[in-house]
Amino acid sequence: MYQNFIGGRMTAASDAVANVNPSNTDDVIGEFARGTAADLDMAVSAARAAAPGWARSAVQDRHDILARAATELLARREELGRILSREEGKTLGEGIGEATRAAQVMDFFAGECLRTGGEMMPSTRPGVGVEISREPLGVIGMITPWNFPIAIPAWKIAPALAWGNCVVLKPAELAPHSAWMLVDILNRAGLPEGVLNLVMGKGSVVGQGMVEHSGIDGISFTGSVATGRGIAAGCVAAQPMKKVQLEMGGKNPFVVLDDADLEVAVNCALNGAFFSTGQRCTASSRLIVTEGIHDRFVAALTEQMRGLKIGDALAQNTDIGPVVDPGQLAQNRDYLEIGVREGARLMGGDLLKRNTPGHFMSPALFTDVTNDMRIAREEIFGPVAGVIRVRDYDEALAVANDTEFGLSAGIATTSLRHASDFKRNAEAGMVMVNLPTAGVDYHVPFGGRKASSYGAREQGAYAREFYTTVKTAYTKAG
Ligand code: ADP
Repeated sequence: MYQNFIGGRMTAASDAVANVNPSNTDDVIGEFARGTAADLDMAVSAARAAAPGWARSAVQDRHDILARAATELLARREELGRILSREEGKTLGEGIGEATRAAQVMDFFAGECLRTGGEMMPSTRPGVGVEISREPLGVIGMITPWNFPIAIPAWKIAPALAWGNCVVLKPAELAPHSAWMLVDILNRAGLPEGVLNLVMGKGSVVGQGMVEHSGIDGISFTGSVATGRGIAAGCVAAQPMKKVQLEMGGKNPFVVLDDADLEVAVNCALNGAFFSTGQRCTASSRLIVTEGIHDRFVAALTEQMRGLKIGDALAQNTDIGPVVDPGQLAQNRDYLEIGVREGARLMGGDLLKRNTPGHFMSPALFTDVTNDMRIAREEIFGPVAGVIRVRDYDEALAVANDTEFGLSAGIATTSLRHASDFKRNAEAGMVMVNLPTAGVDYHVPFGGRKASSYGAREQGAYAREFYTTVKTAYTKAG
């Protein structure tokens, strides 16, 4: 039984939910607490009580705690990767990679603790000086999804703590173990009690409760568009209004031009569309391919797809693990039917039987897709991609931008002119040239435009826009 962590101690909850391995539904990882409104109240009170002390703590202490956590995360990355893959279903290599990422994020923000500065400017008035400084926002509520169950909590918690905020974290119910481990590691690294609290439970209870809670100053959310919209509306309706940051869906285009290196294009598409079971908001779900390379690209991609091994996430040679749960699997399968009804041609997307009961499905590739089809417009969040044939670069760019989303956009080309034009004109927060749309660095901003994101960017030094509030102080000498 995994309990909530409130005010420095494990706190029993009245209800719990089983965390089940999607590679083997007979394998129950554990029972995880389901918090109530009362648990949330306790956590917010603990965070508020800790906030003044933590806001004034020495940056050296914050640095040391984050650095200690980074060291432990790195030392235990194989164990943490295994925990992650077991509960979420990404492969062990991907799980260990994500645990390593959490360590790198902690390490980066340990350094940021020491790099926080302000500005001094002359006033327009004689004898007056102006200082612009950054102060902690206060108590941050974090609502995180299941698809990056350690990296996303890490890249929200680390900057929050570095800039002197206290935290209440609510991870997704499908994959809470990784977040639980992260909170345990950070607290043992020396956080004062109440600075970092974990309240697991339902989005409609704990998540919604955070949005409405007057003791929370800001919400950082990653999840679906529909939930994000509700959270933004709730943050504005709350008294007082809350600062809010949302990272949501994508329908990311990957453009392949006639002049592309075919191998690079196919590897990027394969990775971007299908790795991590396509369960990444940066996944490439629209492959926009010019006529001259279209048939060669589809043939080579199909060939590569046939070679992928789909199976138990923890098995040594698995390339693609299971879909996270029965609901997501049913959604993927529904979209396959929708695509076929819309007139696209489907390859793959079969339910697979393995030695253990799990949610296994082969990657699915649609061809003859047009950009007005639902499979080209709506986020599926599974190992499903569609190929859209276009005449030339201009049409490719227009199709790439014709979407309500704007998270990541990629292009495979050897033309400097097209690469430069795409970097400039792709309507996305992140642009990749000869690289998959998914897979980002941790020291630079992450986020998108249009329906994909709302509010300040996450990650790197840019994260301070959300986690700090600006103060302008005027001083007249004497
Ligand atoms: P996903 O498709 O990733 O499950 P969701 O947006 O449903 O996307 O979930 C992301 C996070 O938001 C989860 O932690 C979930 O519990 C939480 N959540 C779901 N509904 C709400 C809500 N109404 N208010 C606040 N948080 C919610």
